[in-house]
Amino acid sequence: MDLNSPFFDRIRVKPEPAEQSPAEGPRCDHPGCGQIGLHRAPMGRLREGQYFCFCLDHVREYNQSYNYFKGMSDDDVMRYQREAVVGHRPTWSMGVNRGAKAFREDGVDPDALFRDFGQRARGRRAEPVKPSHPVATMKAFHALGFDEPVDPATAKARYKELVKRLHPDANAGDRSREDKLREIIQAYNHLKAARLV
Ligand SMILES: [Zn+2]
Repeated sequence: MDLNSPFFDRIRVKPEPAEQSPAEGPRCDHPGCGQIGLHRAPMGRLREGQYFCFCLDHVREYNQSYNYFKGMSDDDVMRYQREAVVGHRPTWSMGVNRGAKAFREDGVDPDALFRDFGQRARGRRAEPVKPSHPVATMKAFHALGFDEPVDPATAKARYKELVKRLHPDANAGDRSREDKLREIIQAYNHLKAARLV
């Protein structure tokens, strides 16, 4: 075999992050990605309650290209947008409600999902909608010192570092940092409940 053949340049070895132990959890559904896929993404309209599992990078990519209105007629989209203004819930179909229930059982705030869809509907003609996170989730990342969401390993490492630094035992009994410590722990618990760490 000719190992210098350009053919071999095209063979990609699955990325295996050095600092992550052979971790538990599902693999990212993005073709060719070997990362852990802890971030669920709805498959779309008519597939409510079904999800892809992606790593953070690919869930972001997916969110950016996600089009909930794919396959909808213009009339349907316009009706959807009108309803978005008054809130969807009373008029949503059973299928959609089933999807929302699946989220709830998972501990994910269904209101955040509705807000997200409403935002997409309203923002459809404006600039591309950024993947949005519930305010509480963003606050939790901010509490850990991040401007934007980070992957679970990074968040976890920061959390451990902060807890170590702020713990009263590490501060000669200085209790003034306990409030900050409490905030960090609450933030981390929130991310954990949202399955982001
Ligand atoms: Zn991925």
